[in-house]
Amino acid sequence: MIKAEQKPIGEILKCLNPYNKILLVGCGACVTVCHAGGEKEVSLLASGLRMARQKIGKPMEVVEATTARQCEPEFAQELTETVGGVEAVVSVACGVGVQTLARHFEKTPVFPGVNTVFLGETMAHGIWEERCQACGNCILEKTGGICPIARCAKQILNGPCGSSFQGKCEIRPETDCAWQLIWDRLKALGQLYRLEEVIPAKRWGTESRDKGPRKIVREDLRV
Ligand code: SF4
Ligand code: SF4
Repeated sequence: MIKAEQKPIGEILKCLNPYNKILLVGCGACVTVCHAGGEKEVSLLASGLRMARQKIGKPMEVVEATTARQCEPEFAQELTETVGGVEAVVSVACGVGVQTLARHFEKTPVFPGVNTVFLGETMAHGIWEERCQACGNCILEKTGGICPIARCAKQILNGPCGSSFQGKCEIRPETDCAWQLIWDRLKALGQLYRLEEVIPAKRWGTESRDKGPRKIVREDLRV
């Protein structure tokens, strides 16, 4: 799940200063699950924006909408008529949703209402932890299903680093050492032999993006 958090309302209001009628759009997918940008959050934020603008004697009309998935163009299409009647849009979807709307509505400013933070797992109600950095070359089969890129403070691919102490990370002692977790998990699976394979150095540079943003093209799905 993509995890996001609502931006401070003052930051959103600053973007909206020149406008008197806006559309606030939520997304029914990840940001609904993490309570950052679903229908309920749209309603609460819309009330806050209206009240704040009323208070300074500059009322603003806030139209509310929530699409099923804001990162899909067909759902952006559904908003065409509504966007035509406003001066600006605030999206409380992840950064992908914001950019989908910005691409679709060329003449209307689209502002982000949340900060997109990470790809994470729900640990308990109201608690999420980062689990993946979309590195493009998953090695979880070698690490017992535990990601050293998202979970090791030094992103070491062949750990631990030598400063792991009593199962905790030297950089953030309140956190489990990711490589201790990997070792424990592989031991429990009877797969400690996997640690004998050296994971090659990763290309962290920009070479893989020289041709622009990373892209997946599935010819079999194209029409
Ligand atoms: S190795 Fe880690 S960062 Fe890379 S794709 Fe797998 S889970 Fe994501
Ligand atoms: S102690 Fe463990 S988690 Fe922390 S940086 Fe070293 S290997 Fe990574």
